[in-house]
Amino acid sequence: MSQGSCVLSKDYGRQYRLLWPEIAEALEKTFLEDDPILGNAVEKFEVALATYHQTATAIGVSSGTAALELSLAGLGVGPGDEVITCAHTFTGVLSAIVLTGATPVLVDADERGLLDASAVAAALTVRTRAVLAIHLYGHPVDLDRLGEATAARGVRLVEDAAQAHGARWRNRPVGGFGVAAALSFHPSKNLGAFGDGGAVLTNDLELAARLRTARNLGKGSKYEFVDVARNNKLDTLQAALLLVKIGYLETWVERRRHLAQLYNEGLADVGDLVLPTERPDARHAYHLYVVRSPRRDEVRRFLAARGIRTGLHYPIAAHRQRAHAARFARQAFPVAERLAAEVLTLPLSHEHSEAEIARVIDGVRAFFRG
Ligand SMILES: *Cc1c(COP(=O)(O)O)cnc(C)c1O
Repeated sequence: MSQGSCVLSKDYGRQYRLLWPEIAEALEKTFLEDDPILGNAVEKFEVALATYHQTATAIGVSSGTAALELSLAGLGVGPGDEVITCAHTFTGVLSAIVLTGATPVLVDADERGLLDASAVAAALTVRTRAVLAIHLYGHPVDLDRLGEATAARGVRLVEDAAQAHGARWRNRPVGGFGVAAALSFHPSKNLGAFGDGGAVLTNDLELAARLRTARNLGKGSKYEFVDVARNNKLDTLQAALLLVKIGYLETWVERRRHLAQLYNEGLADVGDLVLPTERPDARHAYHLYVVRSPRRDEVRRFLAARGIRTGLHYPIAAHRQRAHAARFARQAFPVAERLAAEVLTLPLSHEHSEAEIARVIDGVRAFFRG
């Protein structure tokens, strides 16, 4: 469509053109309600989110990173505590842990790039307060084994479901398995705002009450401040937009799964390419369709020359980023480091056409044909 013959990794314009009448109506209504801060739309969207994820409640916040930091801090995680997470991750996850004052403890990824329950069990210490489980790319971690490993030691399990709107574990939406879950509505996510946004899902109503205060400058009531806190509220206009979009989430996730299936069939047994897989007890939300190849950079250049844009999630391991390198200077996470060198994200979103996916498949096959 736009950009002539390119296959883009995302095309927000295409998404908004399709939904525009409905979005325009929702935004107009919100503007005229005259309640711009934590307005009606925020409350309605929180109810819709909690219903979708089968949790008791949801708290809208300013970003996924804020959702992570607030969840951990709200559980009392702080200086002197350790939080275990996976070495193959979005770097902001590590930063959220550091921002609480706690110490991030990394364990190497499994071959899917996910947190491995046995590695977590081995990393638990008396200082471990929480395990942050990231459903990376949209595939759930093994929530049974992580639940057992954490419960046995009185450690809190927090889910990072920023990439996993619509993912399920044993036929139940992710986000309700730990004590809290963080969602991001970054525009690129399966449920994306036009700007930043995030939410915490929880079944713990006391935690929820603390988080409602913590996202709002520590306010107890209109003129009363009961705590020192940042301003981390979900914007009302973003909530109004997201309230429209959440009605399409299931259809969009099914569409992503259908297109992923086309990739799975079209790219089976191509060269040394490793394709994503889905566990039988999980529903992959395919936020990202990530393949692996030792020739990743060559494949990427070859596709770019054919007008196909790919992504990298992520090319620098989080513990090698300048922000965190000093802390992990004497540690190595070989699987995470290999994944950083081999992962390649193919274009996949609900708005891609089957013809576009076929073009990507042709491009990848052409590369490996040599
Ligand atoms: C996007 C993302 C975040 C951060 O979300 P923001 O809304 O960009 O702050 C956190 N964790 C993971 C796994 C993400 O993909």
